[in-house]
Order: sequence, then C-alpha cells, then structure tokens
Amino acid sequence: MINLQNLSFWEKETFIRHIDHLIIGSGIVGLSTAIYLKQRDNTKKVTILERGFLPAGASTKNAGFSCIGSPSELLDDLKKADKKTVFDTVERRWKGLNNLNQLLFNSDIGYKSLGSHELFDEESKDIYENCISNLDELNGELKRITGVPKVYGIAKDVCSTYEFNVFNKAISHTVEGQIDTGKMMQALIRKARSLNVEILNGIEVYDIKGKELETNVGAFPFENLIICTNGFSKRFFPDLDVEPARAQVVVTSEIPNLKLKGIFHFDAGYYYFRNIGKRVLFGGGRNLDLKGENTEEMTTTSMIIDRLESILKEQIIPYADFKIEHQWAGTMGVGGTKAPIIQQIDKNIFCGIRLGGMGVAIGSLVGKELADLIIES
Ligand SMILES: Cc1cc2nc3c(=O)[nH]c(=O)nc-3n(C[C@H](O)[C@H](O)[C@H](O)COP(=O)(O)OP(=O)(O)OC[C@H]3O[C@@H](n4cnc5c(N)ncnc54)[C@H](O)[C@@H]3O)c2cc1C
Repeated sequence: MINLQNLSFWEKETFIRHIDHLIIGSGIVGLSTAIYLKQRDNTKKVTILERGFLPAGASTKNAGFSCIGSPSELLDDLKKADKKTVFDTVERRWKGLNNLNQLLFNSDIGYKSLGSHELFDEESKDIYENCISNLDELNGELKRITGVPKVYGIAKDVCSTYEFNVFNKAISHTVEGQIDTGKMMQALIRKARSLNVEILNGIEVYDIKGKELETNVGAFPFENLIICTNGFSKRFFPDLDVEPARAQVVVTSEIPNLKLKGIFHFDAGYYYFRNIGKRVLFGGGRNLDLKGENTEEMTTTSMIIDRLESILKEQIIPYADFKIEHQWAGTMGVGGTKAPIIQQIDKNIFCGIRLGGMGVAIGSLVGKELADLIIES
C-alpha cells in the first residue's frame, strides 16, 4: 500500500491535512460523533479512519436487538448497583433508541416493534418467580421512563405457540424491537457522507505519537483526535477499564415452516435469538469460556458454534430441518460497569468507548454526548 509520504500534493491537501476532527473507528459511535460534529458546525472538516474495508467492529455484526433491559437483568443489576444507577442506565437506553429513530428514521433501519421475550426453563424457575414478584415495581419504574403503563407481562402461551422445548415460562417486553443491522449502518454511513464526512478505509492506527498517529500507511497528523474503537481500545488506553469480549453468532438456512417472530433471550442475556424473515439468528454462549472470549480475535470457535447449533436443534426449533448457513464473531467492549466511557483524555484527545451489549440502543446518543463534550471543551 502506498505510504502517506508518497502521496501527491493534491492528495495530502485534500485528504490528509487541515482536518479539524479526526476520528478513529467507523462503528455506530464514530459515525454518530462525526454526524453530530458536522451538524453543530458544518465548516469543520471531519474525517474517520477505519481499518476495515467495511466497519470492522461490533456495529455491523450485532444481532439487531433494540433493547433496554429484561426483568432478570435489571434485578441482577440491582444487586450490584443502586436503584438510581440501574434505572438511569435504562433511561439512557430508552433515550438512545429514540435518538436513533430521530437520526435515521425507523423505516430506514428496518425497525420492527415485535416486542421481546425472556425465557425460563425448570432450572431457572426461581429466577422467574423472583421476576414475577418484582414485576409491578419494575413496571412502575419503566412507566416513568417510557410512558408505557405495563412494559413487562406474563406471556402465557409463548412457549407453546413457538413450540419451544425445555423453556416453559416467558415474560414479555412490549417496548423492545428489532432492526436490520446492515441497513442501520448503511444509513449512518450515507448520512455521514451527505454531511461531507470523509471516511478513509484501510487505515489501521497503531499508536499515538505526539500530534501524529502511527498507522499502517505512515504518520497521520491530527488536531483533535476522537477514539471510537470500543472493544479494540486497550492499545490506546491500557489503564482504562475496557476489555474485548467476543460474541459469536449463527444464522440458519430458510425454514419454510418457521413459527418464530420477534426477539428472545435467556440465561441472563447470555443467549439471544430472533427471526430474520424465515431464518433464525442465534448468538451467545460467551459464558462457556469467558476467559477465552476475552479476545480481539474475530473468529468463531467450534466449542461455542456447536453448542449454539445443538441448543437450536433441541430447544428453540426442534421441529425444523435446517443448516447453519452463516456464522461470525464480533467484539464488544466491556468493563466493570455498564456505563460507556465518554471522556476527554488529554487537551485534544477524546474517547467514546465501552458500549457493552447495548450499543444499538445507546450508540447514537454516545456520539451526540461525545460531540457536545468536544465542542464545549
Ligand atoms: C455478536 C454481537 C451481537 C450484538 N448484539 C447486539 C444487539 O442485539 N443489540 C445491541 O444493542 N448491541 C449488540 N451488540 C453490541 C453492539 O454491536 C456494540 O455495542 C456497538 O456496535 C458498539 O459500537 P462502537 O461504534 O462503539 O464500536 P464498533 O462497532 O466495534 O466500532 C469500532 C470501529 O473501530 C475500528 N477500529 C478499531 N481499532 C482500530 C484501529 N486501531 N485503527 C482503525 N480502526 C480501528 C473497528 O474496525 C470498528 O469499525 C452486539 C455485539 C456483538 C459483537
């Protein structure tokens, strides 16, 4: 690949120099930050450096759940954090989803408000009972946030309607839905480009050296640097509480007699599935090997993929004849708490990272808050 030093005067002047805001990473956060920076001040030159020919992080690889939190997750969070922190996080997710809708329109991202369900089997009976006894209180908090009177409810017929095996109880969630992840990212890229944001693909940043970035194509100068590399941020911030967490996913062949519609999760959110038309997307199983999945490697492992396939066959679509036609792995950024890190690191270095498993919900809002922080600093 040609080194930056060997570029023409024109190339350097147009693409490399005079950049007001240089962003690393073209995931949901990098693109949203760029869009909001341009919306605030269209005269500023905003450029994104992305190592992949497409965005190569979690944003194009996720399951497309637009979620704000299941009852068991919230009850679990309430054991680790105070009530205000837990429901502030839920509120942020709710605001984030509304923000995404304002930014891109639900029609452009293939949003379907099919609701979601948390599933329970005999082994998780006690967790189910605990959720049910706290449902009124949770619904009260969720009503305050969403305005919807009864967000959670007992879903009596779900397990029999969809012919699940093993699962025998379900709690419904009325305000969650699903999006088309590809369409969302394409819409974000188009919006950014329509505002004259430059996206330079195939540039991997190795390190920050003074006012320059060390990259695979040579030294890249910057004025303001904004790091939106989520689970790949350790190389820039070894001291920040952010770790890579791999997540693996499979998608089945088309199943003509598929009954499934909507999004579902179980085992404290470690497993999740949905329909994509007549196919099933199923992901998770990170808890089978938490240590091994603490990696930036974006390859699947037979241990987890085999487990996903057998759960599909035995529990989720036992009546179906299918093949696994797609499988992939993506990298989340996680840490000790569920809040993202939106921070000024140095005089002209900022970051918006650690989106956890809810980046669809909060990603565009993180971009907005990061743009505000940069402009106000
Ligand atoms: C399999 C899977 C399923 C998920 N399902 C859901 C879901 O259903 N709902 C939900 O809300 N969230 C889900 N998530 C989480 C969600 O996708 C993320 O929280 C969100 O996409 C994070 O966006 P981001 O922009 O912060 O990071 P990313 O999308 O990871 O973007 C970071 C970008 O930075 C680039 N980059 C990294 N390092 C460098 C470098 N050194 N130089 C140049 N470029 C670099 C990467 O290539 C990447 O494009 C899922 C994640 C995975 C992996």
